Amino acid sequence: MKNIAILGSTGSIGISALKVIRDNPDKYNVVALAAGRNIELLNKQINDFRPILVAVMDDTLANDLSAMVQGDGSPEILSGVEGLVCAATLDEADTVISAMSGGAGLLPTYEAIKAGKNIALANKETMVMAGSLIMKEAEKRGVSVLPIDSEHSAILQSLRGHFREDIRRVILTASGGPFRSVSLAEMDGVTPAQALNHPNWDMGPKISVDSATMMNKGFEVIEAKWLFDLEMDQIFILIHPQSIVHSMVEYRDGSIIAQLGIPDMRTPISYALSYPRHYETRLEPLNLDQIKDLSFKRPDFKKFKCLELAFRAAEIGDSMPIVLNGANEVAVESFLRGGIKFLDISNIIEKTMEYHQPVPVDNIEEVMAVDRWARQAAADVRDAGF
Ligand code: MG
Repeated sequence: MKNIAILGSTGSIGISALKVIRDNPDKYNVVALAAGRNIELLNKQINDFRPILVAVMDDTLANDLSAMVQGDGSPEILSGVEGLVCAATLDEADTVISAMSGGAGLLPTYEAIKAGKNIALANKETMVMAGSLIMKEAEKRGVSVLPIDSEHSAILQSLRGHFREDIRRVILTASGGPFRSVSLAEMDGVTPAQALNHPNWDMGPKISVDSATMMNKGFEVIEAKWLFDLEMDQIFILIHPQSIVHSMVEYRDGSIIAQLGIPDMRTPISYALSYPRHYETRLEPLNLDQIKDLSFKRPDFKKFKCLELAFRAAEIGDSMPIVLNGANEVAVESFLRGGIKFLDISNIIEKTMEYHQPVPVDNIEEVMAVDRWARQAAADVRDAGF
């Protein structure tokens, strides 16, 4: 029996993870839940899964939730970052699903590793901001960091049973998002509603915009670099609009090993929890005979400037990926509020990166300090009209 804490239980990954857990009651048990603002759903999850501890970000919402869940067997309810960290480090938990949105996921994930928890990681911002520190700490504590990301789950599966010195390159597939066939000129006028309308995956707003700009793929390249100890020039991106081949590993003899499946996050969630086994998910099977076309093409780095910026930040290294992430978060929030245009997202990130003097980062406090600088600098760039 695995005892699981979920950070981000009311988001799209959290909801899918609870489906996987509900379908395997003899294998998985929920001990802690943490969420942002959706206390109605959180209350329902508490009733269904009976965790020991629950955390919400906001103090007032924590009080409201406490009033809703009174009675026998009701969980302890905490709030704020300290509450999240308590959920992530709870004694009874052995595995933490890190599925919060954005840079807010870093600190609780890092604390969970320090507390000796195995991590099932959906929060890729954690790896963009602090991949080196996270992998070092995980090695030191003897815990695993397994990806809940369809591409990285595919790579993990395609690496098993092979020698890493035989790898020629890793091929990350990308759906291309809602604007893969839209011209750069047309992208200038797109609205938040259009950016949120992803063709293949049903996800939260932040990652949906990241998919539309393809920053999500840039983050995934950095995530792959740290998770699988790769060089940036070993990672190759192909646009694959059908989202059936989730990624591939090419070996030096010319063999390519791929993992395929329907686009449903329950498969990578299940694998991160059952690794190295493959447990039942009750998902509909992939019927390749009904899929007329599997196509692949190179992405357009000029059209998807965020992709180019992610490679640039990773190649500069040190603190620059933290700035990439922080500036992106500020820009995406501004776009969703209607404050800037879609193509201004990459303009704000690029300007903020230009203002940054990269420094080595050796601990989590330094990461958080650069993150604060990046968010302020990006807001200044935005407010100055860049
Ligand atoms: Mg992905």
